[in-house]
Amino acid sequence: MKILIVGGGIAGLATAAFLRRRTSYQVELVERGPLLSDADDYGIAVASNGVALMRLLCDGEDLYQELQAKELEQVVKLHHSIRMVKIDVKDGTAIDDVGRRWTEAHCAYMTTAPASFLNSRQSLRFLLEKGCLVNWFYDEPNVAKDDARRLQRKVVAYPLDDKGNHQIFGYLPTTDELLSRFESSENTQRRVSIANNVPAHEAVAAFEPFHKDLRDLLSCHPTTDLCLVRDSDPLPSWRAAKAILIGDAAHAAAPRLKLAPVTDAGQGSAQAFEDAETLSHFISHLGLEEALDRFEQARKPRAHYVQSTGRVLNGCLSIDGWNEHHYYTTIYTWRGCGKT
Ligand SMILES: Cc1cc2nc3c(=O)[nH]c(=O)nc-3n(C[C@H](O)[C@H](O)[C@H](O)COP(=O)(O)OP(=O)(O)OC[C@H]3O[C@@H](n4cnc5c(N)ncnc54)[C@H](O)[C@@H]3O)c2cc1C
Repeated sequence: MKILIVGGGIAGLATAAFLRRRTSYQVELVERGPLLSDADDYGIAVASNGVALMRLLCDGEDLYQELQAKELEQVVKLHHSIRMVKIDVKDGTAIDDVGRRWTEAHCAYMTTAPASFLNSRQSLRFLLEKGCLVNWFYDEPNVAKDDARRLQRKVVAYPLDDKGNHQIFGYLPTTDELLSRFESSENTQRRVSIANNVPAHEAVAAFEPFHKDLRDLLSCHPTTDLCLVRDSDPLPSWRAAKAILIGDAAHAAAPRLKLAPVTDAGQGSAQAFEDAETLSHFISHLGLEEALDRFEQARKPRAHYVQSTGRVLNGCLSIDGWNEHHYYTTIYTWRGCGKT
């Protein structure tokens, strides 16, 4: 059987790497971008459930490099700069943007494509050693501690590398003007997640509701990159015939800017690793049909829980009987469902 993975984000690369370790199937991965991350990249924080699964694969090293390593007999084929435009989930055919057909009798197509959250520059820069995020929480005397407005003004910063670069993260009120920055000029069908080189005065204006210290910091540099985070409603189904959605395409969740004292990492990457580990586990034990069914049954409750709690903790939703302790013990302690 050949397995085609569309999209070389965290979910796609991790799935390819787990499949290589656990099965002898032929795996091909197609990415519309360049695959290799730039030296000038962005960073994300990976929660403990994601770190544990990532360590099974590459112990904190680059997933792309891991997939290039030749020690494991079965080699995954990686193709970059190819954009899939159509997938026939019944007959197992994918067509790319220059009309080539990618066909195999028994394919499982796993696409991370439709809800593209990140452009390819934003791959992993792991923050394993740094662990916890630094909280820049500005106390505002007129806003009560449990007020949602307080959350909207929260900013976190965390170290990106050992050269002193930091990532600054805060929720901005969106405006049409700001949102228009995330429409790609070359193709209006495609939305990008990162707006590069936003002039300082615009970045400062966008962060207007935040503390002056932060705006002063933004004005120190002529330009800033702004990122747009989107989440999605839980989907009724991730599967259609031979295809299954994984990663953000299946269950995009907003990161949680939790109230003090500790800000916790987002779950996007960790959930992508969980998809990869779980899917490879079932594919290595079961026939394709059953494996895809079992994968969806196993992953959906966890992924939906994470999606909804993202909204709870960002003040957009309330859940009856919400229990913070239960969230941490359920989500953060997950260490995978199969052996390496
Ligand atoms: C600003 C920002 C900050 C974040 N911070 C954190 C954090 O701190 N911690 C955390 O855990 N998560 C964070 N996340 C979320 C996390 O990055 C995502 O959940 C994770 O990257 C999802 O991985 P993925 O592989 O599912 O999707 P993606 O990374 O979006 O990968 C999808 C890939 O598919 C490719 N593709 C799309 N369409 C096609 C096509 N038609 N043909 C071929 N290829 C295609 C895209 O180029 C892309 O490379 C953040 C997200 C954003 C936007």
